[in-house]
Amino acid sequence: MLAAPGSTTVVGIIGRPVAHSLSPLMHNRAFQHLGMNWVYVPFEVREQDLPAAVAGLRALSVKGVNVTIPHKTAVIPLLDELTPAAAAAGAVNTIIREAGRLIGDNTDGSGFVRSLAEEAGFDPKGTRVVVLGAGGAARAVAAALAGAGCAHVAVANRTVDKAWAVAEVAARCGAQAAALPLERRALEEALAGAQLLVQATPVGMAGDQSLPLDPDLLQPPLLVADLVYTPLWTPLLRAARARGCAVLPGWGMLLYQGAEAFERWTGVRAPVAVMREALLGALRVKTGEEPRAEE
Ligand code: NAP
Repeated sequence: MLAAPGSTTVVGIIGRPVAHSLSPLMHNRAFQHLGMNWVYVPFEVREQDLPAAVAGLRALSVKGVNVTIPHKTAVIPLLDELTPAAAAAGAVNTIIREAGRLIGDNTDGSGFVRSLAEEAGFDPKGTRVVVLGAGGAARAVAAALAGAGCAHVAVANRTVDKAWAVAEVAARCGAQAAALPLERRALEEALAGAQLLVQATPVGMAGDQSLPLDPDLLQPPLLVADLVYTPLWTPLLRAARARGCAVLPGWGMLLYQGAEAFERWTGVRAPVAVMREALLGALRVKTGEEPRAEE
């Protein structure tokens, strides 16, 4: 319940669709837990209405919003400033209003890196990583991993030109980088010396039983992280676990990108345990699966 609705601070998410988003639940549970008079609201915004929606954020003094599909790139020219993370990712997933200015940030990559540390005890420093996919999520993750000290980032994608573009981003952020086709031989070579595999394509999303690579390439001590979070246990994660690899499901990135946005808006440490419980509870209902590895 809101203590003083007249002075409630508003944050939210803009995108289309947004009705399915689990972020309102995660953030509102956190505000409630900390006794903060804040509310997180989903705003469905059509592509042609984006400029008016951003002007509305300014006019209504909304403290900030998350940005999701299809606005993550289109919103950039409407903002006053980008953080280095958003500039590197070429996409904004969080807007923060500071002194009347709208700042575009990207917490997807830093959230993923934080999920590696908090949920898998993995420090990217000096490691070799293989990223599957070269879309927006791959780009944010590759940039953040390079910024966190990864020694080498190999980007594998169906369309190799796009893999090069993401590899260049990783190189600009300080890692050695390479691009390769999504083919067995190239992947076998890249995975031979790698400590982390990041699956950043939609392969394995609800109903899709396919795998993005030959599962026999997955061998311990490789950590296998899948960005897909519905289902919770994708065919890739199941195959990796069956071969003895450590795994990190996609809810990790979802949770920590939210925690980082929460901290940017409020200046308060996010109550991650509360947000995790809210998120995993909702995903358990949504997928009918058990989030914990000990299922
Ligand atoms: P995107 O920009 O549309 O990029 C999709 C990438 O996947 C492209 O590189 C594409 O290859 C590749 N791809 C698509 N279908 C494929 C297939 N059947 N086989 C092999 N490669 C395929 O998408 P995105 O925004 O980066 O998102 C990627 C995934 O990450 C989605 O599943 C999304 O749900 C997930 N995600 C999760 C979080 C989280 O918080 N956990 C956050 C963001 C995204 P081409 O370039 O060759 O077309």
